[in-house]
Amino acid sequence: MPIVYSLPLRDRFRGITHREGVLVEGPAGWGEFAPFLEYDDAEALHWWAAAREASTVGWPEPVRAQVPVNCIVPAVTPERAAEIVLASGCRTAKVKVAEQGQDLADDLARVAAVREALGPDGRVRVDANGAWGLREALVAVLALDDEVGLEYVEQPCASVEDLARVRRETGVLVAADESIRKAADPYRVAEHEAADVAVLKVAPLGGVAACLTIAEQIGLPVVVSSAVDSSVGLAAGLALAAALPDLPFACGLGTQALLETDVVTDPLAPVGGMLDVRRPVVDPDLLERCRADAERTAWWLDRLARVEGLAGGLA
Ligand SMILES: [Mg+2]
Repeated sequence: MPIVYSLPLRDRFRGITHREGVLVEGPAGWGEFAPFLEYDDAEALHWWAAAREASTVGWPEPVRAQVPVNCIVPAVTPERAAEIVLASGCRTAKVKVAEQGQDLADDLARVAAVREALGPDGRVRVDANGAWGLREALVAVLALDDEVGLEYVEQPCASVEDLARVRRETGVLVAADESIRKAADPYRVAEHEAADVAVLKVAPLGGVAACLTIAEQIGLPVVVSSAVDSSVGLAAGLALAAALPDLPFACGLGTQALLETDVVTDPLAPVGGMLDVRRPVVDPDLLERCRADAERTAWWLDRLARVEGLAGGLA
């Protein structure tokens, strides 16, 4: 029986205060179906495939026992940003920039606070989620790099062509995220030499096995990230990071700290910036406590049924 959850977030993120989704249990364990609310059924189908893989097939054997992760800093005040970095114990921080209603001065103040909290040998990466126009991106990336020295900038602009321009004209490493997971052709990024790093997310790309294939074919170093998942969804990202032959960068799997509560007793929270490779067990009491209300439950079960129907039609 699928269970619909609603987990409160510590800070507003992606415009939401609660993370909702469905957990499904199968012979291989629990899977998570939690496409963001605005995604249509066709896009949600990938998330369903990932949840199905987790619950029915499982994942390949790991080649490492630990995965380094970055902490994630939403578009919060500099004070809160420093607090998040210090509490995380991570040596790499990913900072949200280009937030609607904020400007470059806000971003500069936030990354400066993060640099201060990390010290000179920590790594600062920023993520604009494609929100900058090309001109704006060129100015912002150079200013942010000048301020703190960027490890890389993730998805500064929306288009692959603009990513390539930012990469060429700033000399700062570029990571592609939306240009891979929301693209009809995830390999365009590599063909256009538009990125130095490929960000792969298990749920939007349809599962661990699908991501391993992309990683093999894209010819770029991979950073595995999550999508504000519960520890059930995070476990799939961790399985991918654990199975990749090479893992040169810290992964974006330190997102458990965004959640105020979780569905497992031993959440996938990093210690000293590292996640042990494991699959935590869902706790029935916690699951019961974070059940969504009747209206949201009906909404999600209806969505799940539609997407399952779509999958059945394709099979
Ligand atoms: Mg991103």
